[in-house]
Amino acid sequence: MSDLIFIFDMDNTLTNPVSLISLDSARTIIRLADKYKLYICTGSDKEKLEKQISPKLCGIFQGIFTNSGAQYYRKNEHIYTLPKPNLLDYPKLKTYLGNIIETCDYKMRTGVHYETRPGTINFSIVGRNADDACRKHFIEWHKTTNELYRVANYVNTMFATDLISASVGGQTSIDIYFNGFKGKESCIDFLEGEIKTPHKYMFIGDKIMPNGNDYDVSLSILHNNLGGCFRVNNPEECTEFLRRFL
Ligand SMILES: [Mg+2]
Repeated sequence: MSDLIFIFDMDNTLTNPVSLISLDSARTIIRLADKYKLYICTGSDKEKLEKQISPKLCGIFQGIFTNSGAQYYRKNEHIYTLPKPNLLDYPKLKTYLGNIIETCDYKMRTGVHYETRPGTINFSIVGRNADDACRKHFIEWHKTTNELYRVANYVNTMFATDLISASVGGQTSIDIYFNGFKGKESCIDFLEGEIKTPHKYMFIGDKIMPNGNDYDVSLSILHNNLGGCFRVNNPEECTEFLRRFL
């Protein structure tokens, strides 16, 4: 077994967003698992992950971090789940996000702008009730405005002293982290405690850009000389990259 450890984001990396993994990607992962230890670190929850990767294929991975690392399963065994934050405990943040919902130039609102998850509050301007057409409409608008990155950047700048941070993971929302929890970056801290043999990481994700949810984890690996990272735009690019290691 190689000492190189692969950590994968899911949406736009192992699978297309909210889609089943392709046969080509699945076959590549299965072959890769013969030589390397594999982990997933996704912003999605376990239910979405099992729908996209399939429980059988999930068994190939040594460990799976869901909810951006707020939850960890080692070979399907639940290891930990961080508590759910309460937005009411953070009135300044609640006011800021409320103002965004009221004043944002994007005018369609479908309701459910906050979803509380382990360790995280997910914030969506268009709202989580958005159907596929509404989501596509927002994604088109967002291509020219990058509003979610602006909001995440504001939170990271203005709420850093409150130990609150944010990043863009999905296409229509941002994740906000509390109490010093750092999202996917926290996975590396955890693995460093768990893996006792010499190792290097190769992290692969699509949002390795400032305020993207694969950025801090990649910087953490690079700055601490723990391995490398590779940015992809879709699962095809990921599979193409992985072929070099087979
Ligand atoms: Mg992704």
